[in-house]
Amino acid sequence: MTKERIKDLLDRGAPGEDVTVEGWLRTVRHSKNVSFLDVSDGSCMSGIQAVAAPELANYEAEVRKLTTGCCVRVAGRLAESPGKGQRYEIQAGSVEVVGHADDDYPLQKKRHSFEFLRTLGHLRMRTNTFGAVMRVRNAAAHAIHGFFQERGFIHLHSPIITLSDCEGAGEMFRVSTLDPDRTPRTESGAVDYSRDFFGKEARLTVSGQLEAEIAALALSNVYTFGPTFRSENSNTSRHLAEFWMVEPEMAFCDIQGDMDLAEAFLKHLAKGVLESCPDDMAFFNERIDKTVLETLTDIVDQPFERMTYTEAVAILERSGRSFEYPVSWGVNLQSEHERYLVEEHVGRPVMVIDYPKEIKAFYMYLNDDERTVAAMDVLVPKIGEIIGGSQREHRLDQLRQRINECGLPEDEYWWYLELRRYGSAPHAGFGLGFERLVQFMTGLGNIRDVIPFPRVPGFAEF
Ligand code: ATP
Ligand code: MN
Repeated sequence: MTKERIKDLLDRGAPGEDVTVEGWLRTVRHSKNVSFLDVSDGSCMSGIQAVAAPELANYEAEVRKLTTGCCVRVAGRLAESPGKGQRYEIQAGSVEVVGHADDDYPLQKKRHSFEFLRTLGHLRMRTNTFGAVMRVRNAAAHAIHGFFQERGFIHLHSPIITLSDCEGAGEMFRVSTLDPDRTPRTESGAVDYSRDFFGKEARLTVSGQLEAEIAALALSNVYTFGPTFRSENSNTSRHLAEFWMVEPEMAFCDIQGDMDLAEAFLKHLAKGVLESCPDDMAFFNERIDKTVLETLTDIVDQPFERMTYTEAVAILERSGRSFEYPVSWGVNLQSEHERYLVEEHVGRPVMVIDYPKEIKAFYMYLNDDERTVAAMDVLVPKIGEIIGGSQREHRLDQLRQRINECGLPEDEYWWYLELRRYGSAPHAGFGLGFERLVQFMTGLGNIRDVIPFPRVPGFAEF
């Protein structure tokens, strides 16, 4: 009698087989002469029902006292279930109480709000929704590695503590071992970071891109998949202070190749999750957002639309819409603009390229018009930007000029500039926010509900 995951039993089990399952009780029903225990082990959306009869030695003493949340080990015989919606049940030969749950177990059968469940980070993974989120996250992560590994990309572990502020954006968390009550000061009164752990002001990374460029200029095709941190105080449904980012970087690649990779990548991920999590996706489609299955199928089947920023602005100007933020050439596209393009104008994902250089980062390749850079954003329904990428400036003079124009300290980027002196090559890459992806796939409205332990302004419990 071997112990099996419930998923395997439901997929492969045969009636009459002796089985053992371990898990937590999602619901319990004690009727006159029998108890029905719905056991779940997180391996799949459905649990399995165990039927326990008074013949069990511990029936009165233990089984009848079982409640929602208890942890049990059930051994018995697999049988076709007469109940609707379930293929098998277990006729229990023994029920062992592994861990009892107190009566005030907070996850009772009624539906709880996502806000309430966020206060139960230690228990919410036992619910249908969060179990499904965790399995979809897992499948998506697996598909990400699969996509790059199949194509010969090397997985780079980029650093989490850095001295460089990737985009000059500023919104970074400081990493320091200085005593905040007695910070050493220089003669001018500034904090003396030379006495700090790294001898310099250190921060948590906002992106692994610059290090990925180092790797690409040695290993050709690489990708990172790691945590990134942004202390932007934006309390939105699409921003976290700690999130996971996937960043491929390719040498000998231009913006067209970058777009091709991004499109193939999203198609691969949508296909992978649809194939490996059909029950979870059906659940999201039924309970959370009735369009997610159709949207993901479309991602797989339909080519993405491509347009330049200049074309996008013209479309928005012609739309006759009065946007909250007015549009004209040179402004940053806001979420409302992105969503108009994707949801109303095109009706499927859109890749926008060639943005004005003023609204993009210093490292992006300057186009021949000298007004735009070879940047690309991939926009998808409901989310807006899910991927941001670019061809990188690989020409020393142009890069130095952009660093200066942006008012950044050239000496801090010494190694980044040296890469342009020692065997530079055209290269390109992008960043995909992993939680934005999972949000997009599941239809969940708030990004806090697609990461196991959200970190946002004012909250980092669990
Ligand atoms: P936004 O304008 O939405 O704040 P961004 O332009 O700052 O995004 P990038 O710096 O290009 O984003 O980061 C690459 C990707 O990382 C984005 O396309 C998005 O998917 C994701 N991302 C960015 N910031 C966050 C955040 N705070 N929380 C979760 N994901 C994020
Ligand atoms: Mn941002």
